[in-house]
Amino acid sequence: MRYVSTRGGQGALNLDQALNAGLASDGGLFVPESLAPVTLRYSDSLPAVAAQVLAAFFVGSALAPELETICAEALDLPLPETPLRDENAALLELFHGPTAAFKDFAARFLAACLARLNPQQVPTTILVATSGDTGGAVAAAFHRRPGFRVVILYPSGRVSARQAHQLGAFGDNIHTYQVAGSFDDCQALVKSAFADQNLRSRVLITSANSISLGRLLPQMAYYAYVSLRWQNARSASVNLLIPTGNLGNALGAVLARRLGLPIGHIAMAANANHVLSDFFATGNYQPQQSLATLANAMDVGAPSNFERVVWLFPGRSARDADLSAQSVADAEIADMLRRAPDRYAVVVCPHTACALVRLERLRAAGDKRAWLVAATAHPAKFESIVEPLIGRALAVPAGLADLLQKPAYAITLENNYPALRSVLLS
Ligand SMILES: *Cc1c(COP(=O)(O)O)cnc(C)c1O
Repeated sequence: MRYVSTRGGQGALNLDQALNAGLASDGGLFVPESLAPVTLRYSDSLPAVAAQVLAAFFVGSALAPELETICAEALDLPLPETPLRDENAALLELFHGPTAAFKDFAARFLAACLARLNPQQVPTTILVATSGDTGGAVAAAFHRRPGFRVVILYPSGRVSARQAHQLGAFGDNIHTYQVAGSFDDCQALVKSAFADQNLRSRVLITSANSISLGRLLPQMAYYAYVSLRWQNARSASVNLLIPTGNLGNALGAVLARRLGLPIGHIAMAANANHVLSDFFATGNYQPQQSLATLANAMDVGAPSNFERVVWLFPGRSARDADLSAQSVADAEIADMLRRAPDRYAVVVCPHTACALVRLERLRAAGDKRAWLVAATAHPAKFESIVEPLIGRALAVPAGLADLLQKPAYAITLENNYPALRSVLLS
């Protein structure tokens, strides 16, 4: 498989070149040159299905002979479904990795790939801006991997206390900085570093943000697996409800659908950041400043994978048939968090609550389809929001509990590029 740019201005590259480059030279995002339907043997093992789905995408890559090992190492995480009470719907719990958010699947896969592409252990800096969950997942995936240093930037005061603790608790080759600014500011600092050719001639930096193919491919693989599992159990295609910010997770589902997997409609739920719902309502894309909400990992005003959606769906009618997006206000998130234990017999995180609000809206409009709702993080990661609303303390999953035992440390970084530059050169 070769990879081209969404903007059409760069020659095709193989996977290894595209992974290392991160962004295409014309500023676009890498997309597969073709998406041919796949025929798969069902297996109840996610790594086994993932290796089959991804085989075509690794043709021509030095990693191809290791694909099965990479999938076994990175993707062997539990992926249970929990039925929602009195509903023709279930939660897909994507949060059983070490940092209790779905980003563990992709971060671990990316780390397994990059480590194998760097056998000489050439010092490489993974530079990542995070609104809360990406940084922790990337830190866990690269922690103590020889040859890698991770530099994490997060917006000071805008992540949950437990997210902040998690980001600062790794130590060793993980360097965590809190920036006095927003997530957009952190992303802008990262972009400046990638655009700084002088810096890049002196330090090898690589991105782990959600535009990386190394994150998109495994997300496609777990939706392929889940849709086959659903079809195997119910002889039907699965409709997916997905909490959405940068469009990485949902795009995985869209790609799996393009490969011919049994996926019906993909309904996205955003928080009060309404750029996607506006786009689906009007056809106009107008990036915004991000708003801070209760679902902070989706506080995105300009979804970084947007160009890939437009590349996949140049026309509006095909897009609207497969995909839709709605925005959910903080008051609705809080109300859903409070009601979910009685109504659905589940406790969810604020992001997953957005998807449940959308499910209620669908039912209110007469929709009778079966839905699988992506649960993107464990609610205990957002205890300061969830616990007061449900009136009790939540048990903390083991991996998260281990990290919370450790001391955490974040260095304060000024919100300007020269400050980041000197960190990267040190
Ligand atoms: C990152 C994240 C999201 C948003 O996922 P995208 O791929 O950016 O759309 C949703 N929920 C949680 C808990 C997250 O960490």
